[in-house]
Amino acid sequence: MVQVVIIGGGFAGPVLALSLKKHKISSAIYEVRSKDWEHGGNIALAPNALRVMDSIGLYDEIRSSGFNYQELAFTSGNGHTLGKFLNGSIKEYHYPALRIHRTIVREALRKKVEEVGIPMYYEKKCTKVVGEDDNSATVEFADGEKVTADFVVGADGIHSHVRQFIHPCEPEFSGLMGIMAQVDASELRDIDHGLQLPAMLFGEKGSFAIMPSSFDGKEIGYFATIEQQDRGRDGWAKLETDKDEMAQLLADRFTYNGSTWPEMVRALCEKTPKDTLTSWPFYSVPHMEKFSSPKARVIVIGDSAHAIPPTGGQGAAMALEDASTLAYTLAHSYFPDFQRQYLPQLLEAWEKHRMPRLHQVVDFTTKNGNLRKSSPHYLEQAAKEWVLWTALKMSGETGGAQWMYSYSAEDVKKNIGETGLKTVTTWT
Ligand SMILES: Cc1cc2nc3c(=O)[nH]c(=O)nc-3n(C[C@H](O)[C@H](O)[C@H](O)COP(=O)(O)OP(=O)(O)OC[C@H]3O[C@@H](n4cnc5c(N)ncnc54)[C@H](O)[C@@H]3O)c2cc1C
Repeated sequence: MVQVVIIGGGFAGPVLALSLKKHKISSAIYEVRSKDWEHGGNIALAPNALRVMDSIGLYDEIRSSGFNYQELAFTSGNGHTLGKFLNGSIKEYHYPALRIHRTIVREALRKKVEEVGIPMYYEKKCTKVVGEDDNSATVEFADGEKVTADFVVGADGIHSHVRQFIHPCEPEFSGLMGIMAQVDASELRDIDHGLQLPAMLFGEKGSFAIMPSSFDGKEIGYFATIEQQDRGRDGWAKLETDKDEMAQLLADRFTYNGSTWPEMVRALCEKTPKDTLTSWPFYSVPHMEKFSSPKARVIVIGDSAHAIPPTGGQGAAMALEDASTLAYTLAHSYFPDFQRQYLPQLLEAWEKHRMPRLHQVVDFTTKNGNLRKSSPHYLEQAAKEWVLWTALKMSGETGGAQWMYSYSAEDVKKNIGETGLKTVTTWT
């Protein structure tokens, strides 16, 4: 029997398994999708996410498969630079930021898991947590199999089944959605855009981020954020297959007659190979007071615990931090003189460590999301630009983001030490 059963093989699940392995704790991952499932789209990994990837030996592998950058320019909707801030920095944080295909990261994690001998079972749908006692928890799968382990960890994303055991709730739509695609730089050769890339443009009809996504910068990805009514799960799934509707949503906001968006935005929308278009509605999980069950044998991490919209570029980073800090925490519970009755207290120490940080990141994400919304009146748009210009000017090149990007998962050890739990204090 493995010590930890992990539901979900996205980002948080494999990172947890690899981090546990470092502490000599065995685990197995159960993933509903098939081994060769791919989801398009890119992701920006901030320094705090890359620090975790480094801790499991994967940073060197992925850094040469994506676009490394430090400065991100914020511009008005017509391309005028309002300011810049360090989205990553070798000097400040030891890591630049990395814009990379989501599938490359997933594949690197999958291969590493396989290489170190952690079992990962595909096409295994967890339907529920059956229950827990003082020593273990049990989950059930759609094929009827039941698996018991010391701990069950739900890393099963925003529509988590494991979460229902701890805090039954449904994700809430934020009113925003993203449309993403990429275009080969050779298609844009003749565009005299004058923009410093990567750039985030804040205009009257939404926001438009332009970010190279390949190591050589020759693939230019974009990410448009627009307001939409909720369509429900089926409606969103339908939109994902309707590339013409996605192209029309872009055209209505970015390439209409009289549009003042820079030529680069128009060119990207018009030259997009339609099959590269992907859509993503932004949902969030209502606030949870606890991420663990009463007996602390069932735990949720990542999007299943606190999915936050991508407007702060921190969702995956939070999932990775959760995984790494939880591994330190569970390692504590296996110390020879750890007394089982203190397990809920131990998990509480982990939650107390994570909660304030997550609140701060959610707050940052919400403020960013508000800036990405449309400004129907030109005065509103002018005010938005002024707020951005002033904020960037006042906060200097780091944009006041050191608290976010400097974080180290190891800090959780200090919080656990402060609880006074009777245990040895040496860590592997
Ligand atoms: C459009 C968009 C852009 C984003 N951009 C960024 C960004 O730039 N930077 C950033 O840091 N974050 C970004 N994020 C957020 C980031 O993608 C998520 O926060 C991250 O994927 C969460 O990782 P996770 O492992 O918790 O969940 P997921 O990656 O969703 O993984 C969950 C896994 O669980 C599996 N699963 C689900 N249900 C079951 C079940 N019942 N049984 C078994 N397996 C199951 C799923 O198939 C999946 O593989 C973005 C999100 C969106 C929507």
